[in-house]
Amino acid sequence: MLIVMKPQASEGDIRRVCDKVAAMGYRPHPMPGAQRTAIGITGNPGPIEPEEFESLPGVAEAIRVSKPFKLVSREVKSDDSLIHIGPPERGVTIGGKELAIIAGPCAIESREQARAAAVRVRKAGARLFRGGAFKPRTSPYSFQGLGEEGLKILTDIRSEFGLPIVTETIDPENCDLVEKYADVLQVGARNMQNFSLLKRVGRAKLPVLLKRGMSATLDEFLMAAEYILAEGNYNVILCERGVRTFADHSRNTLDLSMIPAVKRLSHLPIIADPSHGTGRRDNVIPLARAAVAVGADGLIVEVHPDPDRAVSDGYQSLFPEQFEALMEQITAIGGVLGRTITAATGGK
Ligand code: PEP
Ligand code: MN
Repeated sequence: MLIVMKPQASEGDIRRVCDKVAAMGYRPHPMPGAQRTAIGITGNPGPIEPEEFESLPGVAEAIRVSKPFKLVSREVKSDDSLIHIGPPERGVTIGGKELAIIAGPCAIESREQARAAAVRVRKAGARLFRGGAFKPRTSPYSFQGLGEEGLKILTDIRSEFGLPIVTETIDPENCDLVEKYADVLQVGARNMQNFSLLKRVGRAKLPVLLKRGMSATLDEFLMAAEYILAEGNYNVILCERGVRTFADHSRNTLDLSMIPAVKRLSHLPIIADPSHGTGRRDNVIPLARAAVAVGADGLIVEVHPDPDRAVSDGYQSLFPEQFEALMEQITAIGGVLGRTITAATGGK
């Protein structure tokens, strides 16, 4: 059920509806929009009678949401969501005209490696820095990340370079630690249906970058995001990072058709990861260009100062000079579509 308020509805009208929903034992989710506020309802086991609400002051109509996902749906919020990251004075917004470019190594390996990557990606125009301190690896014997030491390196990068930090959290307990350091909590492809982690990040105060699972359908992807919103965290950025197919020329198949499909159904921003989406350095730049062309709100790209010595995902990590070339190309492509890229301010 969705309660659509009249454009002139007052704060008090909105509060009255929310109180009524709560008194019924359900959860209200007010979603302010450009024209009017809509209030989503979750937790109701069955349909609610629209008449319960339609007589309240300020209510335009009460409608049933036809999709299985509610809060992520454009039925609930028709205009695009803008997700604000980092402090307002040098923060970044994802989902508007600006293309958000997140770059950095797959994993934080050392302070020197992270700094060497940060200097180059910042200079080339990245606005956020990525790097895993906890790595969910296919093999238990592979490098699992530097853990808290990696998170400390990331926060030093943030203060030195003025780049907000995007880093992965791998389970609910781990989230207690990661949220103390990160600006954006990344939920990886392997965890897209880790429902306890989704609920945990849904209770966090930080925005969440939710990657599509390797075999997730559009509905499953949006339902995973719904878990996070249903807990009260509306700041979710989706990420298409490729799916498993029979293709053997690439690690994954970057499913770019997901981007317009998500945009049609959901108000949430969606970015693309051409690094994991292809798994091959030579394919990253062409697919990144294509992702911008189909309407991605940004990119997350692996860049390493010395990819041949990287402890993880070196074969798909760009050399810094390749990243510079990529930035020039997507600035041009974005320009055709009215998207802009602005340099970071603050920090080095
Ligand atoms: C990553 O971003 O380094 C990562 C592990 O991504 P994914 O979860 O998409 O495999
Ligand atoms: Mn990686």
